[in-house]
Amino acid sequence: TLHAGIVGLPNVGKSTLFNAITQAGAEAANYPFCTIDPNVGIVQVPDHRLGILADMVHPDRIVPATVEFVDIAGLVKGASKGEGLGNKFLSHIREVDAIVHVVRCFEDSNVVHVEGNIDPKRDIETIELELVLADMESIEKRSERVTKLLKSGDKKVQAEVDLLNKLKEAFNEGKSARRLIYTEEEEELLKTISLLSLKPVLYAANVSEEELTSNEENKYVRQVRELAAQENSEVVVVCAKIESEIAELEDNEKQAFLEDLGLHESGLDRLIRAAFHLLGLMTFFTAGPMEVKAWTIRQGTKAPQAAGTIHTDFERGFIRAEVVSYTDFVEKGGLNGARDKGLVRLEGKDYLMQDGDIVHFRFNV
Ligand code: GDP
Repeated sequence: TLHAGIVGLPNVGKSTLFNAITQAGAEAANYPFCTIDPNVGIVQVPDHRLGILADMVHPDRIVPATVEFVDIAGLVKGASKGEGLGNKFLSHIREVDAIVHVVRCFEDSNVVHVEGNIDPKRDIETIELELVLADMESIEKRSERVTKLLKSGDKKVQAEVDLLNKLKEAFNEGKSARRLIYTEEEEELLKTISLLSLKPVLYAANVSEEELTSNEENKYVRQVRELAAQENSEVVVVCAKIESEIAELEDNEKQAFLEDLGLHESGLDRLIRAAFHLLGLMTFFTAGPMEVKAWTIRQGTKAPQAAGTIHTDFERGFIRAEVVSYTDFVEKGGLNGARDKGLVRLEGKDYLMQDGDIVHFRFNV
């Protein structure tokens, strides 16, 4: 399964946020595989559509989608040179599919900042630079090899040499690979190069308790937004401290607590959903009297492979998918109503699944 790694400088609130995630996960979960790595947290993806479907279908149980986070503590300046436990942490980042970068935007004189003051721009660039330096090192050998091949007359590697030079130029300016624009051919080549600074990122701006409920965004959050906008990354404002308190509450208490603060949704919920999308994931539903369930697939998945997430037999014996969109299902009062209006489609093996599809698969055993 795909997972997102939580990174950031020391003392920015990573563990506090990660604890909130594992708390929230532990609350809701009864996973058979629950005794996993303490650095991995599995949480449910909040999705209001599940509740609405359940009210219509009255299933025995509701099963939400989940998303996995990995706590990658300990990334410090100099990591790419092996300082601290540098290389180990970089190798952990290599294994994740997306990055949640926690940035300190709260002032608190009791919590030391490793660099002495709050400066989100500097902090983000510090972490990014470590990723860039690691990437620089990892393309060096390859670059030497293909440059040699090109010189000896192997024209096939021209595109690769060009791409590596383009990357090197960016890295020399301290720019992440994420910031460049690539042709389709380059995109293909990139799949064969593992780059840390190319991984999709979202920024979790960790603000103080007071800031969370204030109407105006503080200057630190604005700095984060400015940087994020340059690379089309998303920013989610959270207060890790409050999230860790909320995560300990029961569902009904949680709602009351949020309303007291004048919020309708917790920052953690928004963060979880944003991470789910950042990972390139989407949801389809099955809805019957036994259960209403959100299934997780990659964006761009076709019907037989979606069926395969339910059972391999469904994929192997796939005949057709009966599909109705979530909106049509709800508007027409359920499957029969949608069918009466001709809104239940029969789709074949080339059908590209859409987020929110409600599906019944037909298959041969
Ligand atoms: P990490 O080193 O990035 O994992 O940071 P921690 O989660 O251990 O947090 C460092 C310190 O900052 C702890 O004392 C936390 O209680 C405190 N902290 C974390 N988030 C917040 C926050 O949103 N507001 C305030 N005031 N303190 C926070």
